[in-house]
Amino acid sequence: MTAPATGSALSRATSTTAPALTADDLRRMMDRHGYSDQTRHIIATENLLPLGLLARLQATYPSYSGLLERSPFLFTERDAYAGLDGFRRVIAALERQGIHIGHMTERELFVEVYRFKASRHALNSINWDDYERDSMFQLMFPQPGMIRQGLVDAYAAANSPEQRTRIAQDYARKTNPHDGHQLLNKPWLECDGEDGGGGGGGGGGGIDLVEGSQHKYPQCMLVFDKTTQKCFAFCTYCFRHAQVRGDDDMFIQEDIVQIHDYLRAHPEVTDLLITGGDAGYIPVERLRQYVMPIIQDPRLLHVRTVRLGSRMLTYQPELILTRKYDRMLALFDTMHDNGVQLSWMSHFSTPRELLNPSTIAAIRRLQRHGVVVRSQSPIMNHISLFTDEQGRVDVQRSAQNWIDLGNLLATLLVRFHSMYCARATGEHHYFTAPLADIEKISNLVFRSLSSLNRPSRYITMTTSAGKLSILGTAEVNGQTAFALKFNESRNMAWMDRVFLAKYDRSESRVDFLLPFDTDRFFFEDELKAVEQELLALHGKYRPADGAEAGRT
Ligand code: SF4
Repeated sequence: MTAPATGSALSRATSTTAPALTADDLRRMMDRHGYSDQTRHIIATENLLPLGLLARLQATYPSYSGLLERSPFLFTERDAYAGLDGFRRVIAALERQGIHIGHMTERELFVEVYRFKASRHALNSINWDDYERDSMFQLMFPQPGMIRQGLVDAYAAANSPEQRTRIAQDYARKTNPHDGHQLLNKPWLECDGEDGGGGGGGGGGGIDLVEGSQHKYPQCMLVFDKTTQKCFAFCTYCFRHAQVRGDDDMFIQEDIVQIHDYLRAHPEVTDLLITGGDAGYIPVERLRQYVMPIIQDPRLLHVRTVRLGSRMLTYQPELILTRKYDRMLALFDTMHDNGVQLSWMSHFSTPRELLNPSTIAAIRRLQRHGVVVRSQSPIMNHISLFTDEQGRVDVQRSAQNWIDLGNLLATLLVRFHSMYCARATGEHHYFTAPLADIEKISNLVFRSLSSLNRPSRYITMTTSAGKLSILGTAEVNGQTAFALKFNESRNMAWMDRVFLAKYDRSESRVDFLLPFDTDRFFFEDELKAVEQELLALHGKYRPADGAEAGRT
């Protein structure tokens, strides 16, 4: 017999006197959420909210749970509130309840630059008695300090709404929406037409860019379908604000045939990731057009998984609990019965997002139809990473959030895919923290979860070179170094190698770390050459595109 290992993993004490949760509690929960008879019928006949499960969740996570809350919801009229007008309606509704969140100029500037949308479900999941500390509030509401003060002052001093909007629009162009040279990730099809396709001209063949796609790593192709470029609500940290804002250079895929042609020519692709915006918006007929050839065409047998990137389970899970959604579930059944995995890529950051009856029931309903629900999320200051009063990162509190989330996901059979660092886009400075602290949090999370419940990789950050994981630190000749390894990379052979970067207590971007004992990282020359080649190719065929330059 061996003794249990020591070494300060975090756990959470749970109640030993878990009260039973009764049918009356469940009825009150459903009343509070305003469920229709149809939704109640679906929940009962499909066993989506078993009392044993609810009782266990309530007893294990009482500090996050909204399951037994009784106070009436503040937002009952609209499904969603969008734009500056919607933002002002939300503020007016709050003020009628005596809640004044203040800082309106800054918040409205942010809304004009990045947009705003909040769903009724998500607004009602905020604890309005303590909203400033509430992660959902931080996730959806613009906050003071996000945008630099000089710009806020100029916006405040503008003497007309039109001038304010102009200031916001000028700034929007500077927000680096396509970090990591994403515009270079558009793949292409070679064509032999006279004209050469893609506007390249010249005869003798050329290329057709797949405008609404990215294909950077062999196994996974991203599609930004024309129907999925909105969201159920906006995250303040949005990594895809070019998409949800509707920028001129947003990715948008109109033609599905082109995607299948590309997939036939690329047997290395096993996963088709439909994203946005939010792929939960895809109409069932449109998804069927993507999926049926994958099922029926033997030349597409290599495509094994269709991923849908969606926030629906956090922002509008009730949509899944309707008869209208049955047609989508029938398509998921067809995929399951034909060996094509539907992977629902959700983005849970905190346990609170899951601990309500709608999200739990929606997850279980998807799972009953062969859907594998996964979660991948950024670790974001104010939302899922916390600081103390002196502004220092609170490693224990931040890790506890992710440990509880990991265990909760496991109970609900949701796979914890990944935690990652904020991408260097938008108001990155507000959401990020030193890598040295994030690395400590991530290590504590990893060692505190059972091996089954851990994220599938160490903490990562996306760069032009690839998805780079921080494995931990190493001591070399008395000096500390970060140990790094690619999870995905522009040249997949780079993935085989662990390499070192100088330890830096304050740097928050992995692509700004310096090599430990060489003048450049082993992949840098090759990366430059690949980027130059792609720039030349994109420049030749889409001279107006101007793929962004700058440090990777
Ligand atoms: S779900 Fe994604 S695309 Fe939509 S607002 Fe959030 S980060 Fe942006």
